[in-house]
Amino acid sequence: MEPSSTLRIALQKSGRLTEESIALLKQAGMKFDSYKGHMIVPVQNFDIELLLIRDDDIPEYVQDGVCDIGFVGANVTAEKNADVQVIRNLGFGKCRLSVAVPKSGPYQSARDLNGKRIATSYPYLTQKYFRENGMEVKTVEISGAVEIAPRLGVADAVCDLVSTGGTLRQNGLIETDVIFTSESQLIQTNKPISDEKQELIDKFLLRIGGCQLAQRSRYIMMNAPKASQEEILRTISALKSPTVLPLADPDMVAIHSVVPINEFWTITEKLKAAGATGIVILPIENMIM
Ligand code: ATP
Ligand code: ZN
Repeated sequence: MEPSSTLRIALQKSGRLTEESIALLKQAGMKFDSYKGHMIVPVQNFDIELLLIRDDDIPEYVQDGVCDIGFVGANVTAEKNADVQVIRNLGFGKCRLSVAVPKSGPYQSARDLNGKRIATSYPYLTQKYFRENGMEVKTVEISGAVEIAPRLGVADAVCDLVSTGGTLRQNGLIETDVIFTSESQLIQTNKPISDEKQELIDKFLLRIGGCQLAQRSRYIMMNAPKASQEEILRTISALKSPTVLPLADPDMVAIHSVVPINEFWTITEKLKAAGATGIVILPIENMIM
């Protein structure tokens, strides 16, 4: 059978990663009808179709070339030990896979669990961690609500995904060892793909890169005494060439630039100290460098 020329993108059909994956596709300019309740959704303005499936199936589908790229948590790709390449970290769906023990039990950390039973949906990563640390454990595979297993007496401890830790605490468990940190990623098949598909992927990545850069940046505008111009330009040197505009008052200028969001407060304080007034900060929708 001839491989399809349509680029196929896998994403989780309904879960924690769905909304943000869909949002990113839309921000990158893809147009499609409602995806809810559909397994295959054609993209109207590109030769692309979306395949909406369970996240557990995504690494294998991408590995086998059934899908060319996919949105999935690094935890799932690692658990499936899939032969794929990571083409972009996406910065959402952040979580960690951790060992947790009952609060009022005999165990303090993973070191105390040699020979014990660990409930988890991640048997491969759990076994690997304990083996690498010179221990053997019995994994009890559970696909949901892993945190109640110690109370039910089916396991001595758990190894589960955590983001805030609230669920573990509510179930009387204490997180003791982080064995894997994860975020959502875009993965690509290692199977050969056509030049046309690769071009589409590159175009898509460029657009996603623009969205990610825009999310990390703010557009800043201010008025400043001409005498402070040099100092202000040094402070906002992040962008190669800020815009300087004359104002009706010949001793004043307007300065526009883009600043990284993580340095935003430090920069604003320095600008104020240098005499900038009327500082306005705007979100940026997209940014192509
Ligand atoms: P599916 O029906 O697709 O198999 P699921 O129940 O396995 O869904 P979700 O709970 O929607 O999956 O989680 C999807 C992904 O979200 C996880 O694999 C992980 O990468 C990420 N994630 C982020 N925070 C958490 C968390 N606190 N608990 C579980 N997953 C999280
Ligand atoms: Zn799943």
